Amino acid sequence: MDAVQISELSHRYGRTVALNGISVTVPRGVTALLGPNGAGKSTLLNLLSTAYPIQDGEVVVHGFRMTATPRLLSWQAARKTARLRRRIGLLPQNFTFHPRFTVAETLEYAAWLRKYRRPDLRARIHEVLELVDLAGTGARRLRELSGGMLRRVGIAQAIVHEPDLILLDEPANGLDPEQRVRLRQVIKALPDTMTVLVSTHLVEDVAALAARAVVLKDGRVIFTGEVPELVALA
Ligand code: ADP
Ligand code: ADP
Repeated sequence: MDAVQISELSHRYGRTVALNGISVTVPRGVTALLGPNGAGKSTLLNLLSTAYPIQDGEVVVHGFRMTATPRLLSWQAARKTARLRRRIGLLPQNFTFHPRFTVAETLEYAAWLRKYRRPDLRARIHEVLELVDLAGTGARRLRELSGGMLRRVGIAQAIVHEPDLILLDEPANGLDPEQRVRLRQVIKALPDTMTVLVSTHLVEDVAALAARAVVLKDGRVIFTGEVPELVALA
């Protein structure tokens, strides 16, 4: 069974239809989420991350089902959402954190927010910093870091609690070519038990990063499949 199953998912902002009943499945590994500005990529990531409540349709993430919930049941929905949130890690498009926090404190806080409790959290943080190519930087303050390093801290906070689903919203945006390459290497090296969905508008990201792609346009899925098929279409 596919790791993430999206069925008939719709989302509106007032009269704007941002997602128009999309159905798509995403397997484990890295999948690129593509599409022009306004296609609905951020909306989809925000729905999958539980940042936005589902208005219509259904999402199943590694066996956890999310559907639109009537307001009266919202306390139950909130508990369910909290459980699901622990299975998910998000790097938002404009990731920022307290500049005076150290890298290690940032990751401790991210773990605490997701109720990820383990006695050897320091060891987990050490392991995560190695995964994102930031070994030895735990005691540095965020304000001292370069843009590329900060972005990798963003990846680290998205994976520190060992989530099943990682959502990266335009992670390479604004980085120079060298830092983009470094970031891609980090994303490609993530454990293959995870489902990683990476939104991007950079064509070179797709072939370098992902085995599969989902292309959105005007709130609909216009392509889903292997990256080579997509490249052949273009
Ligand atoms: P993408 O990430 O692909 O650029 P978005 O999900 O941000 O697409 O946007 C999809 C559509 O929803 C666009 O028409 C956009 O203008 C609209 N939209 C996105 N966020 C909001 C919002 N907070 N309020 C109103 N409209 C929005
Ligand atoms: P190490 O190889 O010692 O594990 P890392 O940089 O990979 O070093 O991560 C741990 C580092 O972060 C250690 O130097 C440790 O002193 C520092 N550190 C760990 N937790 C915190 C914290 N909450 N605040 C400041 N520094 C911390």
